[in-house]
Amino acid sequence: MYKRILIKLSGEGLANKSKSLAIDYELVQKFAKQLKSIINKKIQVAIVIGGGNFWRGTSAEKNGIPRVRADYIGMLATTMNALALQSGFEKEKLTCRVLSSLSMDPKVCEEYINEKAIKYLNNGEIVIFAGGTGRPFFTTDTAATLFASEIGADAILMGKNNVDGVYDSDPKLNKNAKKFHKITFDEVLTRNLKVLDQTAASMAKDNKIDIVIFNILEDDSLKKVIENDIPHTVITTKE
Ligand code: UDP
Repeated sequence: MYKRILIKLSGEGLANKSKSLAIDYELVQKFAKQLKSIINKKIQVAIVIGGGNFWRGTSAEKNGIPRVRADYIGMLATTMNALALQSGFEKEKLTCRVLSSLSMDPKVCEEYINEKAIKYLNNGEIVIFAGGTGRPFFTTDTAATLFASEIGADAILMGKNNVDGVYDSDPKLNKNAKKFHKITFDEVLTRNLKVLDQTAASMAKDNKIDIVIFNILEDDSLKKVIENDIPHTVITTKE
């Protein structure tokens, strides 16, 4: 059983396209209920949230905004999501802190300081990391491995939209795609599997942090993945 986990939520995982909602508040409420039961098990929870439901630096660059600026807009998008999650969690009476890698007005959220994050986690508070790594040219997957390393998380739970693990080819295109229950980072890198970006994979490998891939859209997925109760793939350094 994990003691401290970091959950990576993609921005797109928060959206509800059929209702044209950038943030599906009902879904946030569902996450909050599951987190409550995880916290009750005395598991500490940190979250890195993406921003893809609002903005992606690479797509904006194609429309003429310089990449560095486009990426800062993306980091602000992650901060908007972090604040929305915080409200959703507080509604469920969970104590939750938003710590940002970017300097923000303290009325908006707190600045990330490692000791502060550890203190909050030890108090049983949920810590949401906003602003990604705080630098352009990175993704929030890399931020997840960076923060998991900094806070000494046992594992990163990386929820995907409608994919329940790592396959040797795209299961949406190839009916015979083979799924891995466990796979090493080396294999993910050499096979060039597109499950997470290469910077994130090599950092997780160097810091020996397992990454668990599962389908975030399955009912109660966060709770179930902790209980080993839904299909998933563990990416690990252990053979
Ligand atoms: N971003 C960045 N540096 C980081 C993390 C994110 O510049 O450390 C920017 C980048 O433009 C990215 C956007 O924020 O496209 C949203 O993050 P991401 O694409 O990782 O979100 P997700 O796909 O998880 O929703």
